[in-house]
Amino acid sequence: MTQMLEMPRVQKCSVSECGYNHDGCTAFAITIGSMNSECDTYVDSSDKGGIGRALAQVGACKRSDCMHNTDLECHAPAIVVGASRDKADCLTYEPK
Ligand code: SF4
Repeated sequence: MTQMLEMPRVQKCSVSECGYNHDGCTAFAITIGSMNSECDTYVDSSDKGGIGRALAQVGACKRSDCMHNTDLECHAPAIVVGASRDKADCLTYEPK
């Protein structure tokens, strides 16, 4: 049976130099990486992309040691992205 799942919203992203950031993340969905919870969708570009509205969701998260992660999917209600170890990291990450 196919089940529709709601993906967590990217509630806030402060990485203004990303090509998807126009007053928030306008990518359709982002992927969080496994090293430092880095946003794999971040693109250092002056070309502005995205869907035109800041409604991004977390499509996938490779950070399996996060308490919000089950089966490589994020189950946090929403996440915040900003500078930490990388230019753009998931700041909602919490170790299990
Ligand atoms: S809160 Fe955890 S599971 Fe969700 S995107 Fe961030 S690192 Fe991944």
